[in-house]
Amino acid sequence: MARRRWVFAGQLGQQFDDGGPMLIIEAKSVFGRRPIHRAKAHLILSALRHRARELGDRAEFHQVQRYSDVVDGRGDLEVIDPPSWSARRFVQRRDITVLPSRGFVTSEADFERWADSRGARRLLLEDFYRDVRSRTGILMEGQSPSGGNWNFDHDNRRPPPKNAATLGHAPWWPEEDDIDERVRRDLDHWQAEGSVRLVGDDGPRRFAVTDAEARLSLDDFLDYRLSDFGPYEDAMLQGDWTMAHSLLSVPLNLGVLNPREVVDAAEERYRAGHAPLNSVEGFVRQIAGWRDYVWHLYWHLGESYPTDHNHLNATAPLPPAFLTLDPDLITAHCLHETIDGMRRHGWAHHIQRLMVLGNWALQHGYAPAALNDWFVDMFVDGTPWVMPANVIGMSQHADGGIVATKPYAAGGAYISTMSDYCGSCRFNPKVRLGDDACPFTAGYWAFLDRTEGRLAGNARMREPLAALRRLSDREAVVDQERRREEW
Ligand code: FAD
Repeated sequence: MARRRWVFAGQLGQQFDDGGPMLIIEAKSVFGRRPIHRAKAHLILSALRHRARELGDRAEFHQVQRYSDVVDGRGDLEVIDPPSWSARRFVQRRDITVLPSRGFVTSEADFERWADSRGARRLLLEDFYRDVRSRTGILMEGQSPSGGNWNFDHDNRRPPPKNAATLGHAPWWPEEDDIDERVRRDLDHWQAEGSVRLVGDDGPRRFAVTDAEARLSLDDFLDYRLSDFGPYEDAMLQGDWTMAHSLLSVPLNLGVLNPREVVDAAEERYRAGHAPLNSVEGFVRQIAGWRDYVWHLYWHLGESYPTDHNHLNATAPLPPAFLTLDPDLITAHCLHETIDGMRRHGWAHHIQRLMVLGNWALQHGYAPAALNDWFVDMFVDGTPWVMPANVIGMSQHADGGIVATKPYAAGGAYISTMSDYCGSCRFNPKVRLGDDACPFTAGYWAFLDRTEGRLAGNARMREPLAALRRLSDREAVVDQERRREEW
């Protein structure tokens, strides 16, 4: 008799389905462990229920308290290796057949072979990405990268177009159905009975959760927005919360969308002359490079990586504005808008995550492991595997340089160049001392002052630290930031 395949919330697409009987379990306890963004809980429940409906009689579908209510005591199950340390432990402890993981461009075995071949050298994204391109032939002309370059980053750092309120094309949006309506009612009920602690707003649903929706979302992105993706990848506009980003991380991380198919479809647009290479390469790099790289590092660096590392000795608790997603607690316009977007959508684009939220947390020394959990819980695309390399490594430099060579810290000047936030802000990004002092600009110097000893050995921090030592008002700025109440 064919074994029944149990699929988790990250395994809901056709790429995890080989045609046999299936098992889907909606376990309420998963949503009650910690506070969770309401839109995220909605998306996961909606995706599970839509997949169960699509599979019809081929799937057993259970709505229970715990996974063990369904799987304990049976011996007919198989799983594709699940996407978290805790889920892997759960299945390994039971009589369940485990198949190799899927859902990425490269396999875990490919990565380990590559990592072994590096010996004692660092496992840099750029080296991994070039290896993936060479081995798969993605955007390659024989042995050489398309266009003669591996990387078009210099074309992809444009500030937003002057005086533009938006980049233009609004994205495709899904239409909600009876399943979404039921999910919303169930969440209301669970919240009222106290079994979940929901944060933020929920609705209308903005991310694809089914195969059909994901294909529409992908095609719309490729047809209308991919060309702007590259140049404006790092730009921010207060009136355009999506910019030219694909909004595909949700269907990708739910397993609904196959990343190799996404990359191939983008490459096809380039080969047909419908999208410029800088945009296509930038997009391919995010998926075949970054997404695969952080997935593999999650396993390679080990389960305790987020709690083992705190290079900058950051121990501050997360502030109420983060925990409640209440933008009214924040004056600085860039942070206010980003937290407000988080409240409404449970999503922010990459540069808001890295250079607004992450930069702020780095400057204020929030404890990295707690911040890691916050990102997992509050982002609609947050998963245990995606966060450690992004938050502990890249954003907070808590690992002392395993993932990124220096901290992503910047003052208000960066935000001012790359966005239109500062024009309507009550603070001035050029000012570091006094009433108008931008909390990012002053916070940047206060951060360097606090971490000087720990960053002194980092060659890439030599210049910023020398600039800190030249500041005539260093002590006053640090003192001001220590006592700052409005930010
Ligand atoms: P696009 O900008 O259109 O990029 C295309 C795709 O590339 C994304 O859908 C995603 O699958 C992939 N991608 C791009 N960058 C990364 C990256 N650094 N790591 C992994 N995948 C990447 N990504 C998540 O999927 N979930 C998260 O919870 C998440 N949290 C992040 C937290 C921080 C502090 C940082 C710096 C980055 C985080 N990212 C996360 C990566 C990236 O910001 C998001 O993937 C992206 O913003 C999602 O929006 P999008 O689908 O429109 O992406």
